[in-house]
Amino acid sequence: MNAEQLHTPCYVIDRDRLEENLKVLRGVMDRTGCRILLAQKAFSCYAVYPLISQYLCGATASGLFEARLCHEEMPGRENHIFSPAFREEDMPEILSICDHIVFNSIRQLELYGKRAKEAGLQVGLRINPQISTQPAEHAIYDPCAKGSRLGVTLDEFRESVLSKLELLDLLDGLHFHTLCEQNSDDLETTLNGFEEQFSEWLPQMKWVNFGGGHHITRADYDIPRLERCINRMSQGYGLMVYLEPGEAIALNAGYLHTQVLEVQHHAGAMDIAIVDTSAACHMPDVLEMPYRPPLRDSGQPGEKAYTYRLGGPTCLSGDIIGEYSFDEPLKEGQTLIFEDMAIYSMVKNNTFNGMPLPSIYLKQGSDYTLIKSFSYADFKVRL
Ligand SMILES: *Cc1c(COP(=O)(O)O)cnc(C)c1O
Repeated sequence: MNAEQLHTPCYVIDRDRLEENLKVLRGVMDRTGCRILLAQKAFSCYAVYPLISQYLCGATASGLFEARLCHEEMPGRENHIFSPAFREEDMPEILSICDHIVFNSIRQLELYGKRAKEAGLQVGLRINPQISTQPAEHAIYDPCAKGSRLGVTLDEFRESVLSKLELLDLLDGLHFHTLCEQNSDDLETTLNGFEEQFSEWLPQMKWVNFGGGHHITRADYDIPRLERCINRMSQGYGLMVYLEPGEAIALNAGYLHTQVLEVQHHAGAMDIAIVDTSAACHMPDVLEMPYRPPLRDSGQPGEKAYTYRLGGPTCLSGDIIGEYSFDEPLKEGQTLIFEDMAIYSMVKNNTFNGMPLPSIYLKQGSDYTLIKSFSYADFKVRL
């Protein structure tokens, strides 16, 4: 089908853009020997897992369900898992389908480490290098912030492994994840601190995992610096380096098509367009991060002749996507296309207000195929 036939609201995954990203990531792997995994929490649309598996080494999961998805939809690929705290009841299945498990605390390592090892998994520990590289307003995305529940600090690590040497023997690798939408200069800063703190234990490890948050497929990303960071660990300590980006894999590789339902004029205030997609339901990061999603053929407010505030059809007064300007007045029934809507969108959908879930299409060239559509039943079944 063509673009005019899409039923809004809908997400569109752009297969060609996705593949361009995958080629960039593959290039890093080929030049350095590192391994890159898909962080499924950002993008779990498994219809394109066959394509992703052609380029990457596997996936990482935030829990049992994502691990099961990788097991089912990327068969034969590496299946890593990390959770701040695992549940006993999930362990048998996790140990049967995953090949790498990363624990968040010494206590979790003590609880499950030996079992994981005996089941044949490689065991890692997430450490907290306590180096914040994120802007202060990003505190909810900073695992190094004071009081963080994520990762083991150097002091905690040293104290535990000195008193219980067998813990160290369980470890195949160390993991850190401290970045969010950042460039490789911040990775380098983090790695400098990590190496300074943990170098004495690195020779006995098999791998180090740099986590996610690397915006590798963004135009201004400094890939050579990333590769120097990887080479430092692989050549300096003989370590395999893992990266597990989510965003970078499907960055700018998806859209959210929406239709203008009504245009409102209010005396003394900005014109409003109500669209059939909701920030709260279909792009919650717009409100949480917060950020202003790019919208095709639009400008900043006031930049073009006609400026509107775009809002969703829910009851929430703050269900506002943002303010945009256009060359022509908006009309009822007109389609608007939000860009960069593949990541942290479908995976975060909800049906607040009974809002329908957007359909999902795959775009290849100028052809669109329906991957999935939803109905009233999908709203009802969860309640
Ligand atoms: C969120 C997360 C990722 C992926 O992060 P992106 O910002 O999407 O690249 C990878 N690893 C861990 C442990 C995470 O929490």
